[in-house]
Amino acid sequence: MSDTASLRETLALRGALLEGHFALSSGRHSDRFVQKFRILEDPALLEPVAARIAQRFAPGAPTIVVSAAVGGILLGYEVARALRTHAVFVEKEHGRPVLRRGFTIARTDRALVVEDVITTGGSMKEVLEIVRESGAAILGAGAIVVRGPVDLGVPLFSLLALPLRSYEPHQCPQCSSGVPLTDPGSRRA
Ligand SMILES: [Zn+2]
Repeated sequence: MSDTASLRETLALRGALLEGHFALSSGRHSDRFVQKFRILEDPALLEPVAARIAQRFAPGAPTIVVSAAVGGILLGYEVARALRTHAVFVEKEHGRPVLRRGFTIARTDRALVVEDVITTGGSMKEVLEIVRESGAAILGAGAIVVRGPVDLGVPLFSLLALPLRSYEPHQCPQCSSGVPLTDPGSRRA
């Protein structure tokens, strides 16, 4: 898994990159779906993926890795392990993103923010906001897959770009061809 082409091949073989006709949580339809837990559930696959993100940011000597629950917890932990630092995560409390469980980010920290799959960047921006409030320096953002054009205001490194193509059902080419629709279950396109 030394380059992007082989990573993509590996993820496809594991069922992480699905092709078909999918109903997204937004109600739109797409011909591709990223089943991120096919990556996150397997330490043997996640470890080298996380190591590549860690390597990219290692020169900045991160002191903390910050992610968002739920999938981000697993990636954040593995990236922190590769960097020999620690990981905390942001979660929702009464609908607001917060640090719970006694997690703290110090003003003196150099934070690396990670996310498994970035589509609109919404949860990544929430995490970045929490880090900014702490006063810590932000080295950048790392992701496994990026699905759309996102501007986070910090350097973004991703292992794979998989632009999201989606359609309103009445404009969906696969609907017009009569291809059966699949509900991928777990949300997050
Ligand atoms: Zn369709």
